[in-house]
Amino acid sequence: MRANRDGKLYLDNYGLVAAIQLDPIEKKPFFHFMPGSYVLGVGTSSCNFGCMFCQNHNISKDKEIKGYELSPEELVGMAIEQGAQGLAFTYNEPAIFIEYALDAAKLAHKKGLFNVFVTNGYLTKEAIEQMKGLIDAAVVDFKGNGSEKFANKYMAVPSVEPIKQALVEMKHAGIHVEITDLVVPQVGDSLEDCDALTKWIRDTLGKDTPLQFITFFPDYKMQDLPPTPYSTLLKHWQVAKKNGLDYVYIGNAPGNPYESTYCPRCGAKVIERAGFEITAWNLDEHNRCKFCGEEIKITGKHVELGARDIKVFY
Ligand SMILES: [Zn+2]
Repeated sequence: MRANRDGKLYLDNYGLVAAIQLDPIEKKPFFHFMPGSYVLGVGTSSCNFGCMFCQNHNISKDKEIKGYELSPEELVGMAIEQGAQGLAFTYNEPAIFIEYALDAAKLAHKKGLFNVFVTNGYLTKEAIEQMKGLIDAAVVDFKGNGSEKFANKYMAVPSVEPIKQALVEMKHAGIHVEITDLVVPQVGDSLEDCDALTKWIRDTLGKDTPLQFITFFPDYKMQDLPPTPYSTLLKHWQVAKKNGLDYVYIGNAPGNPYESTYCPRCGAKVIERAGFEITAWNLDEHNRCKFCGEEIKITGKHVELGARDIKVFY
């Protein structure tokens, strides 16, 4: 999607949206940023990773540049019209269409919307410098517990170090950060790797960093594996809790107890979720636990919109 013409670098998929959808922010999945809000999510064709299990391979691996033409102005206008509180750059890696994302993000801020990146974290320092002040939050997805071997073999990524570096730099840039980890059964579910990753998160980013272990579903070139067994996800959850992380979740397993938030001090269920819906809110107006007063790390306030729909536009 990039071309060098007469020594000038072009982004050929600028403003060509390959997917656009209105979603609860919990679906992205952010659990500690503007809870209850809606985001208008957009992505383009192509990607910089080669994940063999990509769930969006129809757009990320598309050999042609195509999409629905939508200027940054039109995107922001559509978000407002649909009652979204923010824009999400998602589906494929937003860094690869960063010029478009940041142009839209600038306009979105002017209109009072927030901006989030759903990213693989393979971002340079220069990219993060540009995101600073425009991208309010990012969820970074490790896959296979951040194992270097897994990244080499199943993602065509030489090293996970740049992802860790980017997380540190985003935190320094004042970007709200959450982490997901896609647990791939048999090949990316080592508890030793999970132990190392969760200790790194605790010691480098802080124990209040939200972490979700995500259920893998067979897709693309990895159709032969089963979905991640819940028992495997639970073992990962236990390792992260043993290592002292405050907010650990199991994602893509609707109805499990760990899609809710528990107070790290008294253990009470402070935010109850059912899928992407918030069904109980037990925090005061300063996001403190109603039972013991502990401050729960949430950026922004609970946005109460009532029953919400997921709308697919393209
Ligand atoms: Zn409490």
